[in-house]
Parts: sequence; C-alpha cells; structure tokens
Amino acid sequence: MLTKLNLTIANVYLVKGPQLVIVDTGAPASAPKTLAALARQGFAPADVALILLTHAHSDHAGSAAELRKATGAPVAVHRGDLAMLRRGDNGKVFPTDLEARISQRFVDKPFPALEPDLVLDDQSDLRALGVDAELLSTPGHSPGSISMVFANGDAIIGDILRGGIMGGGFLAARPNYPFFLYDLADKRVILESVQRVLDAGAQRLYVGHSGPLPHQKVVEWLATQRQKEGAAQ
Ligand SMILES: [Zn+2]
Ligand SMILES: [Zn+2]
Repeated sequence: MLTKLNLTIANVYLVKGPQLVIVDTGAPASAPKTLAALARQGFAPADVALILLTHAHSDHAGSAAELRKATGAPVAVHRGDLAMLRRGDNGKVFPTDLEARISQRFVDKPFPALEPDLVLDDQSDLRALGVDAELLSTPGHSPGSISMVFANGDAIIGDILRGGIMGGGFLAARPNYPFFLYDLADKRVILESVQRVLDAGAQRLYVGHSGPLPHQKVVEWLATQRQKEGAAQ
C-alpha cells in the first residue's frame, strides 16, 4: 500500500488506501518522474486524490505546484509551514553536522510558491481526507512537520529523522538527526516528536532521505541521544 519513489534528492511516497495519495513531491521539476512512476503502476494523473506534504521544504514541496497542475488534486500542508509554502523558501535552517552543511547548497533553494488547498492543524483527521492513518504533529525539523502512522505499523515521518550516512548511500536503516533543525538550540523537540511516532505504533519509519528505519534501531538511537542531551544539560 506504500510505495517509495527515490527521486534525485528526496523520497516521494505513493499511498494506496481508500484514495490514491502522494506524500511529498520532491525538488522542483521532479513531477515527470512521479507521474511516470504512477503510470507504471497503472494510474492516470487524475486518479490522485490528494497531495500531502510532510513539511514545506524545497526538496519535499518543490514540485507541489507542478503536480497539482498535472493531477488536479488538492495540496495539504500543516499550518506551521504555511508561510514557507506561500513564500517558496525554507526559511532559516540550521545544519546539524558537516554533511548537512555540505548538502545545504543542494537542498536549501527557493521553489515555486503556492497557496495550499487544505491547511491542517493538530486536530485534523487524515481519514476524512482518504488517508487511513493517524496524523501526528512532529515539529523540530520545521515548525509544521507532520507524520502519519498506518494501522499496519508503517509510518511516514518526513525529515524528523534521516537514514544513513553520505546522503543515505550507506547504512540506509541507521537513524540520525535530520540535516536541519529550525531551532538548533533544542534537539529535544526532535526527540519528543520521534517518541510520539513510536508511541503511535510505528514499526517501519519511512523518511524523506534514505531509510526506512526499523523500530528497534530508532528506539536504541533515541535512548542514546536522550543520554547525550541529558549529559549536556
Ligand atoms: Zn526538510
Ligand atoms: Zn528533506
């Protein structure tokens, strides 16, 4: 029911449930790749019922305008990232490590701005939108980052964690902090968001870059980071 499309920079997910939903859209100009993947699975652009953004960074929302035009499907984003989507830029982001600083010039770019059709908040019901999953507000990477947890234990968590090292080319299932935080002062916001996803029953955590991350690895990573953050107090 979940298909991961590896686009150039970030993952796009096709969710086949009550409705056909695209979660995240990739960097600008990646809509043709997504539409080609849909066609390979036997879907026409008009079959897409919803375009859902885990957050409004350029590498995830960059092709939202283009995909909306091609499919006619509404675009939904959480209120916390609304300003970024309307401006078409990532706002201020803080790299978390050296690899993030290097990748910043590839992913921290402007993108075609758009006015979303649906604005979600913490109480929004994804099931009413044709997505059979629980919506969780999981800030830390951006103010309006969201995650969704399906009944079978699959979860899409956007960039609250990233998989692997060297852009995910190695150790794809190893959890790590996201490339960027919107408030570098407090990594605990990320740790709380990851805990929320685990508490909701996530077993396989599908991320925006590389992955997926197995439950047990995330539990271990979380314990290690909590110790470090506790020691840093
Ligand atoms: Zn991001
Ligand atoms: Zn990303």
